Amino acid sequence: MRDDNETKIGRRAAMKRSLLVLGAAAIAPAALAACGSEEGGGGSANACADTAGLSAADLSTRTTNAYVDPGPDAAKHCAACALYVAPAGGAPCGTCPVVKGPIATTGTCTAFVAKPS
Ligand code: SF4
Repeated sequence: MRDDNETKIGRRAAMKRSLLVLGAAAIAPAALAACGSEEGGGGSANACADTAGLSAADLSTRTTNAYVDPGPDAAKHCAACALYVAPAGGAPCGTCPVVKGPIATTGTCTAFVAKPS
């Protein structure tokens, strides 16, 4: 038979575990949102969001042209832009002569030019 002290310790431990789970649940959405950086990324791993190797000048092309991924209008995604250069060899990201760095097919910017139909 358990005495009162054992019961109290058990409840205390259970309460600590519950608080840890609740804390993790509260922090997880913010942590996932932070992973997307400028491109948002929807919280998932976004292979085209890594701009760590870009110079300040190249980075500024992304902000000046308001590059975002995903773009709000699917009709104006980079995949539909005449300036988009598709990746070679199965690479996940394309390039663009206007916006420097990795470009996602789902991205967009203010320099979008529709591909001729
Ligand atoms: S100009 Fe803008 S919309 Fe067009 S490919 Fe480059 S980043 Fe994408």
